[in-house]
Amino acid sequence: MPIKVGIPRALLFYEYYSLWISFFEELGAEVIVSEKTNKEIIDIGVKNTVDEACLPVKVFHGHVMDLKNRVDYIFIPRIISLTEGEYICPKFCGLPEMIKYSIKDIPKFIDTTINFRKSKKNLNRTVMEIGSYITQDKKKIKRAFEIATEKYNNHRMLMETGLLPNDMLKKDFLGEVPQPSKKDKVLLLGHPYNIYDSYMSMEVIDKLRKHGLRVVTCDNLETDVIDEKAKTLNKKMFWSFGRKILGTTLHAIEDDGVCGIIYMACFGCGLDSVIAEIVERKVRRSSDKPFAMLSLDEHTGEAGINTRIEAFVDMIRWREDHEDNLSTYR
Ligand code: SF4
Repeated sequence: MPIKVGIPRALLFYEYYSLWISFFEELGAEVIVSEKTNKEIIDIGVKNTVDEACLPVKVFHGHVMDLKNRVDYIFIPRIISLTEGEYICPKFCGLPEMIKYSIKDIPKFIDTTINFRKSKKNLNRTVMEIGSYITQDKKKIKRAFEIATEKYNNHRMLMETGLLPNDMLKKDFLGEVPQPSKKDKVLLLGHPYNIYDSYMSMEVIDKLRKHGLRVVTCDNLETDVIDEKAKTLNKKMFWSFGRKILGTTLHAIEDDGVCGIIYMACFGCGLDSVIAEIVERKVRRSSDKPFAMLSLDEHTGEAGINTRIEAFVDMIRWREDHEDNLSTYR
């Protein structure tokens, strides 16, 4: 019987699922991903998390509950840093402990520490430690990681052609790449776990697409381009997601194909409150692109989000019709 590894479909899943799933599968494990976020998962997550936690962390708890009785291990790495010289939100570092103390009768965790803040020197050690939960064969672990990395790199390359993780996660995905077209891109900013989780984001991507708009995110832009733009900031942004969001914003401000920008923030997220404010100021000061801020929490109603999206699309259409007729103050 293969070892069953559960991967919660939450937080960094949307960024790294291709790497994680293929790594564990190459090692011979059976990978079980939790169900898509739904009302039950959110409710059970909210019930099992401390009130102070942000919505994505509560949702993560719900996904762990969904896996709890179906797997031998749950993959919950303790993530401190994913990139040299940068950090990610401290909540990721305390996640295994949070889960351990909030949820009873939980299976064992694969809770290896991932910390590339100083260098990626210990990448090999990190990979070996994670793989050792499944096998002691070091060659097999090394090979599994090489194959998984290749899949992950392909996945990143496909995103740079315009695809989003949700497109590739569809069972009937055949590898089609959207064709570049006119000025119809909306830049959707926010943490990947907010914007790509269809239930949490209230299907914002599909809703914008139904209005004939093409949705682009930080993941559709080459890392080098983001880094170059981020370097022009007055101060170094040491939060990885903050750097990506700000670098992408600066690029979008100059990209004529981008007709509007939406920031999907999470109520109670310290990082969002700082980054969203900087983004809004930069967009409003340096461009005439419509900008909308959408805030999510467990009480956000879909009707409110729909109204905001419709108003945002109306503004884009109005701008298209009156492009040459903007006031001095836009
Ligand atoms: S960055 Fe914000 S939304 Fe993400 S885990 Fe931290 S507090 Fe929550």
